[in-house]
Amino acid sequence: MSADTATSTGTSTGTSTGTTVRQLKTAIPGPKSRELHAAREKQVSSGFGITSPIFIDHVEGSLLVDVDGNKLIDFASGIAVTSVGAANPTVAEAVAAQAKLATHTCFMVTEYQGFVDVCEKLNQLTPGDFDKRSALFTSGAEAIENAVKIARAYTGRPAIVVLDHAYHGRTHLTMTMTAKNVPYKQSFGPFAGEVYRTPNAYGFRWPSGREHAAAEALAALKEMVLTQIGAGNVACIVAEPIAGEGGFIAPEPGFLKGVQDFAREHGIVFVADEIQTGFARTGTLFASEFEGIEPDLITTAKALGGGMPISAVTGRAEMMNAAPVGGIGGTYAGNPVACAAALATIEVIESEDLVGRTKQIESIALPRLQGLVETSPYVGEARGRGAMLAIEFVTDDGITPNPDAAKKVAAHANSSGVLTLTCGTFGNVIRLLPPLVITDEELNEGLDVITEGVKAL
Ligand SMILES: *Cc1c(COP(=O)(O)O)cnc(C)c1O
Repeated sequence: MSADTATSTGTSTGTSTGTTVRQLKTAIPGPKSRELHAAREKQVSSGFGITSPIFIDHVEGSLLVDVDGNKLIDFASGIAVTSVGAANPTVAEAVAAQAKLATHTCFMVTEYQGFVDVCEKLNQLTPGDFDKRSALFTSGAEAIENAVKIARAYTGRPAIVVLDHAYHGRTHLTMTMTAKNVPYKQSFGPFAGEVYRTPNAYGFRWPSGREHAAAEALAALKEMVLTQIGAGNVACIVAEPIAGEGGFIAPEPGFLKGVQDFAREHGIVFVADEIQTGFARTGTLFASEFEGIEPDLITTAKALGGGMPISAVTGRAEMMNAAPVGGIGGTYAGNPVACAAALATIEVIESEDLVGRTKQIESIALPRLQGLVETSPYVGEARGRGAMLAIEFVTDDGITPNPDAAKKVAAHANSSGVLTLTCGTFGNVIRLLPPLVITDEELNEGLDVITEGVKAL
């Protein structure tokens, strides 16, 4: 968890009115949470930040039940992971059944069908009508590391091009690829070599105006690749279809397509990091579909496992098969219990039409967030797609980032029982990542609380 997310101050005296979905029996965090948090500090590295020091006992659908018996609305999904809910019965049954059969064999030692089935699903479901292969890993960062290894093996080239506001993980290579210094990079250098950064087409903050963002950002990327690095030295360009930690920035239309075309022209592997956007989060199964792009490689993780740790790289067969035999893998890569969870999660996404549900979530939530832009001088923009929505806070000049406002609204939401995350390079964005199984009532109540928080600014 990033240290720039808001910490709940827990000043509200929670009351349960009986008319709310939330049930607040104590202040948030409650006395038991406070006690456990104090005890944690004696055992756990303080390098782990915390959004809200609440200890969770269990989860019911989209409600988090804490150790004090409070029921909280979840607008975080454990950072876009529990799209089908953190205690989905289909996933829980699949996990329990597989755990009884075998928890682990290591796919590099002996094989099992679940691994192959997850790869088959990924090959079928990801955009791109070409022959594909997949490789499974454990964390998102590991998927990115492996996508880079695969791209380097395929091209025989060293350089990696990434975007401003990018987030790709916390390992040595991926923190280098990540844009933001505090908290992801500060104190952790020296960084990996051969990582080059170029502007993202961030409409709201584009100096010459939104309408120029896509063309100018693309021109900057081309110039950097052609004049500074040399196209023949670039293995891959890695981009999030919507930048997640960086502030839920959807690049202006046409930018990513332009990047893809340029990459093709120069034999550069185009990698879409769909770790946060993938699996129905943005109102299409993959965000790349909305952009009309067919990346050569796609990384997935987060929502894929329904809460179990699993990640993947999927893409063109000739690229995926370029890594030397034994060159990619991992002890826990594509663990059988995690594979069972992933198959169950995909089944739930398909059978419950969560892509359709995500569009409904957008149609309820986005207009309400846009209403805040109209009514509050501190909300500069409401944006995003599907159930990946955000508001960006500014000062009353309408553009200067206002992280204090974002922190205040998030603190209000968290202490009122709506678990809400901040994000953004400037820490001035509140992001909504509800489970896709959230009810309309829960969604609206959570939005009411955020609206209250904005009005109080
Ligand atoms: C979360 C995230 C990662 C890193 O995933 P981990 O499982 O935390 O290693 C990489 N890329 C994006 C876009 C992410 O949102």
